[in-house]
Amino acid sequence: VLAFGALSYLWATPGVAPGKKLGEGSFGVVYRVTLANKPSSKEGDLVLKKATEYGAVEIWMNERVRRACANSCADFVYGFLERSTKKTPEYWLIWRFEGDATLADLLQSREFPYNVETLLLGEVQDLPKGLERENRIIQTIIRQLLFALDGLHSTGIVHRDIKPQNIIFSEGSRTFKIIDLGAATDLRVGINYIPKEFLLDPRYAAPEQYIMSTQTPSAPSAPVATALSPVLWQLNLPDRFDIYSTGLIFLQMAFPNLRTDNSLIQFNRQLKRCDYDLVAWRKTVEPRSSAELRRGFELLDLDGGIGWELLTSMVRYKARQRLSAKAALAHPYFDKEGLLALSIMQ
Ligand code: ADP
Ligand code: MG
Repeated sequence: VLAFGALSYLWATPGVAPGKKLGEGSFGVVYRVTLANKPSSKEGDLVLKKATEYGAVEIWMNERVRRACANSCADFVYGFLERSTKKTPEYWLIWRFEGDATLADLLQSREFPYNVETLLLGEVQDLPKGLERENRIIQTIIRQLLFALDGLHSTGIVHRDIKPQNIIFSEGSRTFKIIDLGAATDLRVGINYIPKEFLLDPRYAAPEQYIMSTQTPSAPSAPVATALSPVLWQLNLPDRFDIYSTGLIFLQMAFPNLRTDNSLIQFNRQLKRCDYDLVAWRKTVEPRSSAELRRGFELLDLDGGIGWELLTSMVRYKARQRLSAKAALAHPYFDKEGLLALSIMQ
């Protein structure tokens, strides 16, 4: 039924109860549905997204991810075009419900990062709170993110909308997964490869406006596979766009006072004024910094400043100077063991 039915059919089917709206962007609406024969268990829950313009691309990306790097993203079930007389096409996408919390929700809590530790380990740890412990939790989150990104990038996909709102905590696998491939681009086969710049979220976007050189010949934006040389990838390093966004998430995890939209926008302005040089930014803010800001620097300075070193290797003006996801995973910041139970699970 889920695979072949249109939504009207879903709604009319006694076995399926429509659930709450999870999100509504300019290009689609997202719902959670519960199977009526399993109302008490989250396990059968699904997420439905109605997408217009970019639905075809999103389906294509999800199918590719499912085949090539399934663990990187939310578990995709099926996608289809609704037969309708409307002018704009309406696509439906279905995923398994991964969990209630996105990284954005978790970051907004005063408990962060301890709320994440509880989710990751499945229990509350009775240990003293402090920077060391917080750093280990943050390290674990960043490592999972980079791991998921490495999967996407190795497949040839650049996400282009990496932000806490698009990272879901999967309760089943106790890991963070990436969602929302609506703005993604697959450069190896030329899918959606004309960058839809207006889709990019300015809060997390890297400074380069075009992730591929504007000199690069254009490919069809419809999901039609055309052979594109991997050489172009090497020339442009489009994956480093996602690395920049991930660096900003790292920053927000370390500095509680950069977690609101306004403070992130203000930070971006400050960084731009420093020509995107984090070291220069630090020099301007540190002398007059608040206790919260100082604490963030202290966290990044642990173990000889290895966290700060990683952060400054991700948030750089030139894409070429940023680490790849794979190289970042090999960074000494990750040498020290993260959360114990986690290293056993992975
Ligand atoms: P949008 O294009 O509206 O941003 P998303 O794909 O990001 O759509 O989904 C919107 C919201 O729905 C997410 O922020 C998340 O809260 C929730 N969501 C999406 N996919 C899932 C999933 N597989 N499991 C649980 N929640 C999800
Ligand atoms: Mg989203």
